[in-house]
Amino acid sequence: MKLIATILLGFFLTSCAHKMNPQENYLMGILFTQKAAEHTALTLQAYNIAIERLDRVKKEYRGKKQLAVVLDVDETVLDNSPYQGKLYVQSEAFNYDNWKEWIAQKKAHPVAGALRFTKAAHKKGFKVFYLTNRSEKFKADTIENLRKVGFPQHYNSIFKSKERSKEGRRQSLAQKYHLALLVGDNLTDFSKLYDEQSTERRKEIVLKNHSKDFGKKFIVLPNTMYGDWDKALIDYKKLNESDKRCERTSQLTVF
Ligand SMILES: [Mg+2]
Repeated sequence: MKLIATILLGFFLTSCAHKMNPQENYLMGILFTQKAAEHTALTLQAYNIAIERLDRVKKEYRGKKQLAVVLDVDETVLDNSPYQGKLYVQSEAFNYDNWKEWIAQKKAHPVAGALRFTKAAHKKGFKVFYLTNRSEKFKADTIENLRKVGFPQHYNSIFKSKERSKEGRRQSLAQKYHLALLVGDNLTDFSKLYDEQSTERRKEIVLKNHSKDFGKKFIVLPNTMYGDWDKALIDYKKLNESDKRCERTSQLTVF
C-alpha cells in the first residue's frame, strides 16, 4: 500500500514539473462553453428565470426609484470563448495585448438568452446597465460590440476605474435606481462579500447569506473557463502553470 502511494506521489510530482501549455487547464472548460448544449441550456435557463422575475418585481416594488437591471459583460452578455480558444491553440497566457486584440475586433457573440432578456427588460421600462471590469481603454470597442449585436442601452456601460471591486459602482447605481436584478458569472458580480475570499468562504457565503437570492435577485451564469472560483483555488497568488496545476490538484476531494 505504501509502495503504491509512493509511486502515485512520484507520478504526480513528475507530471507537475512537466512544462505546460499555459491554457492546458482550461481546455475542457472552453469546450464546455463552446460545444456543450448543456451550457446553452444553462444560460437560457438563467435568462428565462430572469425574464419571469421582471414582471414579479414590477408588481411587488413599492418604492419610488426607477427600476434597473445590472448585467456583467464578459461571459454574461458577451461570449469570449473564441479568445480563450485561440490562447489555447497558440499556447499563450492572457495578457493585455492579446486581450486588446480580441476586443478591438468587436466580434464577441451574445450569450444565449442575454439579448432576449435585456430587450424584455428595456421594453418593460427597466433601465439596463452593463457593469464590467473591462478597462476604460476598451470602452468604445466594447460599446460598439454590444451595439452591433443588438444589446439595448449599450451606452449604459460602466467600466473599471480604480477599484476592481464592483461594490462602489453598484452602490452609486443603487442611490438612484432600484437594482431589481443582478446578472453575472462571478459571485463578485453580486456582492462584495465574495471579493477575494477563499474557496471555503465563498461556498459558506452562498449557503449562509444568499441561498435564497439565486434565481430571485441574483441570476448566475456558468463560466467554466476562468473566474474567481479558479483564482480562489490558488489563493489569488501569481503562480506558473505547473504550480497552479499542483495547487489545484491538491484541492481535489477524493474518496
Ligand atoms: Mg464576467
